[in-house]
Amino acid sequence: MNRSLNSANFPHLFFAGRTRLTLRNNEKGTHIRLKVVQKKTRIEGKLVGTNRFYLYTSILNDGDTGWDFAATFYQDSKNYSLGKEHTQGSHIHKVVHFIQRALREPAVLDAMGAALFHEGKCCRCGMGLTHPASIMLGIGPDCIKSMPPSFITDLITVIA
Ligand SMILES: [Zn+2]
Repeated sequence: MNRSLNSANFPHLFFAGRTRLTLRNNEKGTHIRLKVVQKKTRIEGKLVGTNRFYLYTSILNDGDTGWDFAATFYQDSKNYSLGKEHTQGSHIHKVVHFIQRALREPAVLDAMGAALFHEGKCCRCGMGLTHPASIMLGIGPDCIKSMPPSFITDLITVIA
């Protein structure tokens, strides 16, 4: 169940915490799945999110197989460090670099003919989404309260 997403929200969804997105190249018809998991740390017994997000990629369409660690992204700077298995100039490096550009300037996605989809699950907690509005946004009704206000205002800018 792939659901279309507004590319303006790519940075918010990428850094939501438990994200699964599909990035499709509309011209070539190819796609790549992204899984982004926030590193958590324990402070005084509580699990707290950090600035680090682990990006995994998969070219397979279903299931949980084929995930390949691609890079660590830092939310504040949107810099990344490429996974050690990947060389400079490799296909994964190009994908990771494109993702960085799109995180800094989401309009790059539309400009480059890339479309964004989610898999029917909340990008923050991973639960299945049922309400049409939640499906449109990729975030469930409880988790949306924890998203920054710009999650919605960025969309309004696009629609207006
Ligand atoms: Zn949620």
